[in-house]
Amino acid sequence: MLQMILSVWRPLIEILVIWVLIYSVIRFFQGTRAMQVLLGLLILVILFLIAKFFELNSIIWVMSKLFAVGVVAFLIIFQPEMRRALARIGTTMSNSFLPLGGLMDEILRAVDHLSRNRVGAIIAIEREMGLKTYIESGMMIDAKFSAELIWSIFDPHTPTHDGAVILSGDRIASCGSLFPLTQSTDLPPSMGTRHRAAIGITEENDAICIVISEETGNISIAVSGNLTRALDIADLRKTLEGLLHPAEGKSLLQEFIEKNKRLFQFQRKPTP
Ligand code: ATP
Ligand code: MG
Repeated sequence: MLQMILSVWRPLIEILVIWVLIYSVIRFFQGTRAMQVLLGLLILVILFLIAKFFELNSIIWVMSKLFAVGVVAFLIIFQPEMRRALARIGTTMSNSFLPLGGLMDEILRAVDHLSRNRVGAIIAIEREMGLKTYIESGMMIDAKFSAELIWSIFDPHTPTHDGAVILSGDRIASCGSLFPLTQSTDLPPSMGTRHRAAIGITEENDAICIVISEETGNISIAVSGNLTRALDIADLRKTLEGLLHPAEGKSLLQEFIEKNKRLFQFQRKPTP
């Protein structure tokens, strides 16, 4: 009986484990330059399987030599990413950002002061998708968040004020990070590169971006490529609290199942 149950369940469990493993690898490398290489590798593996199927021996020979060298090259080139990815394994489950209580107050205190003093600033808050590539493009800081540190960073007399600050968890990951500018043409001419960068980054990433205008002191917030202007601090608190849902205590598997709900529901898509 047990044998029978095992023979039915074993392949299913194996498939599930492999699935979760592949998903985890993709998650760890998401937002890094290693992601593109992983995609490239996937294409090579598919080509290799095709060559195997049609027994194209010389192609198989060349590719197997390439793979041997490629693995070593991959490990050397992406050693920093691998190290960070492995370090994250233990922390992913509690990594969801939750700026409630002290941290939320501190963010609002920082923004309020910048706005009152008309100090231009752009602050991106990392959510599910990583901002690693952008963190690495700026000056990496990795300091505990404090309003005073934010004021110093954006002080126009310092070399750190140009570019964006990225918040990862309760830490300031970097300053001076450059975001892609939105290509949108229907924006008012008063919106310069700072606001365009905030829209640009949120078009391709699920981050939240807060902008303080140097010209007007206005506070804006960008999410999913939409910018809401002229928020006061109370509005900003409400918006941030609404956007940053607590995701504490979720395991990687739970998260995986939630994200792939469609696969578990076996629903037929409505035909348009
Ligand atoms: P403001 O209302 O503050 O004047 P703005 O939308 O008019 O903002 P600019 O006046 O062009 O924008 O702001 C220039 C500043 O925006 C730069 O000093 C720099 O700090 C920041 N910035 C420009 N491009 C980027 C970018 N690609 N990523 C992040 N920050 C950027
Ligand atoms: Mg301007």
